[in-house]
Amino acid sequence: MSGRRFLSIGECMVELSQAGDGLLRKGFAGDTFNTAWYARACLGPDWSVDYFTALGDDTMSDEMVAFIDKAGIGTSLIRRIKGRTPGLYMISLKNGERSFSYWRDSSAARSLAADPDRLREAVESADLVYFSGITLAILPQEDATTLLAEIRRAKAAGKLVVFDPNIRPRLWSSYDVMHATISEGARSSVLVMPSFDDEAAHFGDDSIEATIQRYRALGAADVVVKNGADGIHLNFAGNQSFVPAEKVETVVDTTSAGDSFNGAFLARYLETQDAAVAARFAAGVAARVVSEHGALVAKEKLGLSGR
Ligand code: ADP
Repeated sequence: MSGRRFLSIGECMVELSQAGDGLLRKGFAGDTFNTAWYARACLGPDWSVDYFTALGDDTMSDEMVAFIDKAGIGTSLIRRIKGRTPGLYMISLKNGERSFSYWRDSSAARSLAADPDRLREAVESADLVYFSGITLAILPQEDATTLLAEIRRAKAAGKLVVFDPNIRPRLWSSYDVMHATISEGARSSVLVMPSFDDEAAHFGDDSIEATIQRYRALGAADVVVKNGADGIHLNFAGNQSFVPAEKVETVVDTTSAGDSFNGAFLARYLETQDAAVAARFAAGVAARVVSEHGALVAKEKLGLSGR
């Protein structure tokens, strides 16, 4: 092991989904964790993938750590806080439409940046640092400021800092705070990986080019804009290119499409330094993910061999 480390920072939650007859199935998921999962599935053994979050000291937190560990993702940096519990969400199905209920207001993950020494140690140990707009949204404002300062240090130290704005207005106290903090997240990053529908809806971008230029103007060197079945627009150091999405016969569940794309993209980008090659690979992985149920699709189903 040469010890290169991919560090993802955010919240993993307990997921409850319908299992028929009024029964519920328990799982674990969350945007930055999903990306770590796909990065782990796609990266070679010379990379370790670690998850940074905060959890409680209850049985559910223990189960989540065991789950993360079993996925081959490092848990040694996870902060455990006495008396706290993980966040939880439930997926309900009504007439084929999925809806989500969340219990995350007092989740342990909201305190993930409240121990600055531990945060610094984690970020300093990494070669790539990944975080999202959801990571920022769940933090108290002063902790978001702490995290962003660490992220800027990482960028200044030459680490690959990657940010998915993952805009969720419900998690923010106001549009102004959301716009300002997400823009600060992008400014503190090297590579920004937005989804165009979110950016159009919440930043008012009238074209993919507008999204790219807005993030470049903030100081992100590289931008990857995902646009669902309509493909991926890349701008790396000013050089534009386009990669089509892969054709999918039947879209079963789009949960985690963007998260899986990001994990697969980064894995291949770290290995090849070629953004177009990485995007083609990630489009293949994401196409398989939207063809299956659930956020976390097993490595064996991702069609990785031969890619
Ligand atoms: P998000 O899930 O963040 O909204 P997108 O919907 O843009 O992100 O999807 C991310 C990636 O997943 C796309 O870039 C594409 O590669 C793939 N993808 C999503 N939806 C489809 C689809 N209907 N057909 C094929 N690929 C898809």
